[in-house]
Amino acid sequence: MTAIRIDGNALSTKVRERIAVDVSAMKAGGITPGLAVVLVGEDPASQVYVRNKVAACAKVGMHSVMHKLPAETSEADLLALVKSLNADASIHGILVQFPVPKHISEETVIATISPDKDVDGLHPDSAGALMIGEPKFVSCTPSGCMEMLADIGMKDLRGKHAVVIGRSNLVGKPMAMLLLHANATVTICHSGTKDLGAMTRQADVLVAAVGRAKFVTADMVKPGAVVLDVGINRLPESQGGKLVGDVDYDGVSAVASYITPVPGGVGPMTITMLLQNTLVAARLMASKAD
Ligand code: NAP
Repeated sequence: MTAIRIDGNALSTKVRERIAVDVSAMKAGGITPGLAVVLVGEDPASQVYVRNKVAACAKVGMHSVMHKLPAETSEADLLALVKSLNADASIHGILVQFPVPKHISEETVIATISPDKDVDGLHPDSAGALMIGEPKFVSCTPSGCMEMLADIGMKDLRGKHAVVIGRSNLVGKPMAMLLLHANATVTICHSGTKDLGAMTRQADVLVAAVGRAKFVTADMVKPGAVVLDVGINRLPESQGGKLVGDVDYDGVSAVASYITPVPGGVGPMTITMLLQNTLVAARLMASKAD
């Protein structure tokens, strides 16, 4: 078997066209959806991510502002900025790019973002709403994965076993919740899981969110499984310096039915869902103003 490659760029283009139409309709009604992106420090990967996010906003006609703060910014100053963005009527979504420098508490930053502008879906209110099946803002990477599943005809996962490797608040946990809401039977694996391969070989849908290059190998995958690779890992220069996922793409392609590549898979869908969440946030603010 050679797996079908799920093209995240192509699906993103399709979804972003739909978002651009909705943005222009909102603009005609006098509201321009706006996103604020905050970056603290000089992390090179984060700089690329925020640039891509701001550029994506412009392409669908959204307003965006980028706040670049030096690494030595105090937590108090960052929180003051977040509070000013909470109060800014031209900003509907706020994204603070993580990681932030160690002297700043991510939890405190997340809790300070208004739940109505939490387009990253990290606020405890957003996590709780997802847990009880009434999601408002869902973390962008997992929701992008669900769009990809829907696009290959797997919107309802009744009778399927989904296995998620990783339990972060950003990816693993919300991913598992979304799969559960789609009626899958869900297993969450992590560093304490015994015999990981025995778990992953049961998966009809396997999501890898580990942060280890080519961690999932062909022998860990059930023939015909759908494999979604969330990982973004840069190989050392001695191995070519390329970006690779958490899945050994070549090996696993020979076993799976569908697979997402890295780059060009889950990554572009993550940014697309950020745009979608910003649109939702703008609608929410408009409905509250009525
Ligand atoms: P994270 O917070 O570091 O979480 C990694 C998870 O993997 C943890 O739950 C950890 O278990 C688990 N893990 C580590 N080693 C393991 C092992 N040997 N066996 C089983 N589980 C293991 O990372 P994250 O934020 O979820 O991100 C995961 C990856 O996705 C990273 O490569 C990141 O760069 C990428 N990512 C990509 C996008 C995108 O847009 N494509 C977005 C976000 C993240 P413990 O909890 O037990 O430590």
